[in-house]
Amino acid sequence: MANEGLMEKIVSLCKRRGFIYPGSEIYGGLAGTWDYGPFGVELKNNVKQLWWRMFVQDRDDMVGVDAAILMNPKVWEASGHVSGFSDPLVECAKCKRRFRADQVGQMCPECGGKFGPVRQFNMMFKTQIGATEDATSVSYLRPETAGGIFVNFKNVVDSLHPKLPFGIAQIGKAFRNEIAPRDFLFRSREFEQMEIEYFVRPSEWKESFEEWRKNVHAFNDAVGISRDAVHELEVADGDRAHYSKRTIDFEFDFPFGRKELYGLAYRTDFDLSAHQGASGATLSMQDKEGEPAVVPHVIEPSFGVDRTILAILTSAYTEDELGGETRAYLKFAPVIAPIKAAVFPLLKNKPELVAKAREVYTMLKKDIPQIMWDDNGNIGKRYRRQDEIGTPYCITIDFDTLGEKPELLDTVTVRDRDTGQQQRVPIENLKNQLII
Ligand code: ATP
Repeated sequence: MANEGLMEKIVSLCKRRGFIYPGSEIYGGLAGTWDYGPFGVELKNNVKQLWWRMFVQDRDDMVGVDAAILMNPKVWEASGHVSGFSDPLVECAKCKRRFRADQVGQMCPECGGKFGPVRQFNMMFKTQIGATEDATSVSYLRPETAGGIFVNFKNVVDSLHPKLPFGIAQIGKAFRNEIAPRDFLFRSREFEQMEIEYFVRPSEWKESFEEWRKNVHAFNDAVGISRDAVHELEVADGDRAHYSKRTIDFEFDFPFGRKELYGLAYRTDFDLSAHQGASGATLSMQDKEGEPAVVPHVIEPSFGVDRTILAILTSAYTEDELGGETRAYLKFAPVIAPIKAAVFPLLKNKPELVAKAREVYTMLKKDIPQIMWDDNGNIGKRYRRQDEIGTPYCITIDFDTLGEKPELLDTVTVRDRDTGQQQRVPIENLKNQLII
């Protein structure tokens, strides 16, 4: 995928067309934050919905939760985040700029100055809860969604009495005060995660791990992330967290290099046992009648929403030549495309065309909400715009629709994004044609 300046092209298309904007832009931005625009939010919602459908709704061994972002700070003490969730930081003695020690050499890349000593920088955002500002009011914005799952383990077991194996999923925001946010959505300070804690009998973790490994690839396929660009990295013994017996990083060939997209880890009973010890709550469960209660072990697939979006954009961005002109388009899988079809009247100033087009638009929108009306500029411009948004189909209402050629009455043209080919389709068949 050698594409000169691919990253710049994607960032610029995202801004121009309304997918993703720099955060707080009119005030000069805020490093490490990005805002999703009108098409970006549709795309992101589609991705989250598909994930939820695949991993929660379509399975009978999974349920979801939506926990608070602010949690009792004891959660993060027990999980090890307060003491250990840090990156090595160095500060330039001359210009005072700060860098991640593992990402720079001997000298400051900005001014050539010398670095001071390396120190550990905790990446959790601290905040104050309530009106008093003392040590007891300190809390943190959650650095991962997993914590909200573990603290609700007992609640879910008490409400639903599940048997092992079963899992709890959560989608939500996470915050990390990254020393060096960079590479567009890849490393930001506020992002979203889709995480699963899948609870298993200790003897059965290997089967579950293999199942989730396959599920990760199945999800990538479903959202249109190129399989060729995804690589499994078996994390070596010495590089894994001490409690993890096996970890696979799923890496993706981003335009700036091969980097972590998702993680899959076998975390033993580390989390539940740590929270049991610190909270005093019983976090074991009765799995089989007549047998002692067990603290389940856990397999954790962790997906970053924003890295998913970036991998989708990288996989979908295509340049080709159509009708003698070069064009760029987003070859989204229809299921995640922010707009499934755009409806055009051939001419904006012919009321009979506009009225018929409105009728088709309203009919389709009832069943498929992600339909767009577009009458701005000539047809060629509208096609190019929809190509850049990644709309799989453009539907044009023309004079033949109105019966200029009687045999074509009540048919429209449907233009395919990828081939540019047009087909005449009876209006009554449109919904089937657009099966998403
Ligand atoms: P990295 O090594 O790249 O910092 P990590 O190993 O710390 O990532 P995890 O703690 O395993 O990441 O988080 C799970 C997932 O959350 C990651 O696989 C990624 O998809 C996402 N994620 C983590 N940090 C960020 C970030 N700063 N911006 C966007 N997504 C992130």
